[in-house]
Amino acid sequence: MAYSSVRGRKPMERASKISHTNIISSPQVQALLAQCTVPRPADPATVQDSVKPVPKSESQPIKHVVAVDGSFREVVIREDFPSATITFIAFGPLIFELEDLRALDRETFIAPEDLAKLKKIQRFQLALPTRNISRSGLSLQRSIRLTVHEFFSEPRNGGPTLYHTLQWVVFRRWRNSTGITRTLRNCPNQQANGCKRQDIVLTPQTKFESRCTECGDPIYLIDVLRLEELIDEEQGAGRVTSYLLSALETLVLVHLIHILWEMKPTALREILFIKDGPLALFGQVFTLVDALRDLADFLAEYHDPAGTTRPLLNIVGLEKSGPFVEHATHIEKSLDEKLQELKKSQDITGIVLPLSNEYIYKYVVPGDPGSTISYGQNTYWGPKMIFKANDGSTYVATVPALGGHKPTPQYSDFVNLTDVLGAVSELRCSMYDNALIPVALANRLVSLSEVPSSRILENFAKGVVKM
Ligand SMILES: [Zn+2]
Repeated sequence: MAYSSVRGRKPMERASKISHTNIISSPQVQALLAQCTVPRPADPATVQDSVKPVPKSESQPIKHVVAVDGSFREVVIREDFPSATITFIAFGPLIFELEDLRALDRETFIAPEDLAKLKKIQRFQLALPTRNISRSGLSLQRSIRLTVHEFFSEPRNGGPTLYHTLQWVVFRRWRNSTGITRTLRNCPNQQANGCKRQDIVLTPQTKFESRCTECGDPIYLIDVLRLEELIDEEQGAGRVTSYLLSALETLVLVHLIHILWEMKPTALREILFIKDGPLALFGQVFTLVDALRDLADFLAEYHDPAGTTRPLLNIVGLEKSGPFVEHATHIEKSLDEKLQELKKSQDITGIVLPLSNEYIYKYVVPGDPGSTISYGQNTYWGPKMIFKANDGSTYVATVPALGGHKPTPQYSDFVNLTDVLGAVSELRCSMYDNALIPVALANRLVSLSEVPSSRILENFAKGVVKM
């Protein structure tokens, strides 16, 4: 996520004018450095000892792939100072059949028309006021909350709205328990009108829009996202967009899972859901992570009447940048050696290195390797791993693990790992260096303005159910 665009680089600029030698030799800096550790390079033996072979998927049940990706663009609508901006958020799922991809793979040259076959994408678009602009005299906070509230309320071709899905998540409705509530610490209108009401309890019966009993201003269900905490009337809402986009990408995936769960739960077995980036929620929206972990657990343990015990959910987050991707590049050689060695004696899809707490804090990001708090405990809904497929391509992936977060995840903890990685290994296309077809395509298509927004999502769900 790009935080670099945030204003306020002044301290850095000032710092650059002081000579580096002076800084390093200052007693304060020396004292600080004496207490600091930086992750060290992982030695080949450690890497190779932790690697596990990924067996060939025996009867790959995954037939369809759904990848979600989005982007946002801030547009200046008044250039005079102070400038006013609106941010356009576009995102959506891209859906295709694994078999179509296999057919493409057999061709030596991929023509644009072939790629067009895969272009099934449904776009969601949201225009958000982000700076010096308001809706009918409302404050920026109120304008943004109202806009997001309306977006979640939009009817989606007779199916559940995004609000129904948010409600499904917040109150874990898959559990059929009515006792789950959610408490807002403060009235979301606090900054705008000074309302002092605290501990506002939302229940599954609370309407998507209600009124605060103290100030009379609206309380929306989207207020569980705590967007108002990121909006400053003068600085604008630049901090909201990346958080919101990440939450929306996740919610759209969950939305499709929700639709299928209501229509035909066992259809979920045939679909691989791919999130661009890790399976994690950062910033204010991390409060939904516990619920998503519970959803993954629930679907993994679901036993259908036919008696099949294979977990229902196939989902993976794939990263394209960041410290884990850099680390994967560093250990590429060690992984390669191990892959070649194992390939000689076993029929495998590739190898995987599940990343334990200790490993992450020793070799990837700074932290205490002996810590009892797992990496990403509050933000991730699955542990991380590095996967190297037989064709040599490497992925940093997140897959949910049964029973939630574990400091030392084992191969068998991950939900449907053999089938999920088997499908991931098929997504590689030499046209895109280290890029996944669905993610690369979704990137391109989501940013195009002419893509027809149709009922693809709903039609797809209906189609899968009919099979
Ligand atoms: Zn209030």
